[in-house]
Amino acid sequence: MRKNSKPPLVLFGASFMRDVVRELAPLPASEFVERGIFISGPQLKGLNICCHMSRRMSYQEQSASGIVATAASTLDALLELHRQGLIAHVFAHSHPGTGCSDATQPSRTDLRFMKNVQHDFRADMIGMIVLTPSEGMTFVRFFSPHMDFRIRVEGSGVYLSEKQGNEYVYRIEMQPTLRYRQTSQSARPALFCL
Ligand SMILES: [Zn+2]
Repeated sequence: MRKNSKPPLVLFGASFMRDVVRELAPLPASEFVERGIFISGPQLKGLNICCHMSRRMSYQEQSASGIVATAASTLDALLELHRQGLIAHVFAHSHPGTGCSDATQPSRTDLRFMKNVQHDFRADMIGMIVLTPSEGMTFVRFFSPHMDFRIRVEGSGVYLSEKQGNEYVYRIEMQPTLRYRQTSQSARPALFCL
C-alpha cells in the first residue's frame, strides 16, 4: 500500500450479507458443518465491492469444527471468478455456535490461513466468519491479520457491534422489520408490466 493512501473500503449490501449467512450456515443448527466460499465483485479505485459468491468447493475434510477444501475445487472456483472479471475480496467460512459474537473469533488456523493468503495470493483479501442464525439474528466477523481495511454495510438490519483493531463484528437481523409510514392507498408502491 502506498504511504498515506487510505486502506481499501470493503462494501457489502445488507441483503447480500444475509445471503452469505444462509449459504454458509443454513438451518437447522443441529446439522451444522463448516462451509467456506470466496466472495467477490468488481474493484474500483480503493473500493472492493462484494456482490457475488464463488461456486461451491468440494471438501476433502468437512466437519462441525473444520474444513479442508480440495486444491482442484479451490482453483476452479478462483478461475471461474477470473473468467467473469471478478476479484475475490473475502474468504468467508462458518463456525459452530449461535447467539454470541465470541464464536466468530478466528482460530489460530484461520489467522495462519489468511496470513498466507495475504502474503502469497492477494494482499487485500480479508476473512469473514459467520454463525448459524438463532431467534432471527446472527453475528458476522471480518478480520485481517496483515492489512488495514475499512468496511461499510449498506441496507437495513445490520449493526456494528464491536470494533477492535482490524476486526469488525456485525449483528444481523435475518428478517429486518419494515419501517415505513402508512400512506393512502394510491400512494402505495406498485409494479407494472405492460
Ligand atoms: Zn474458523
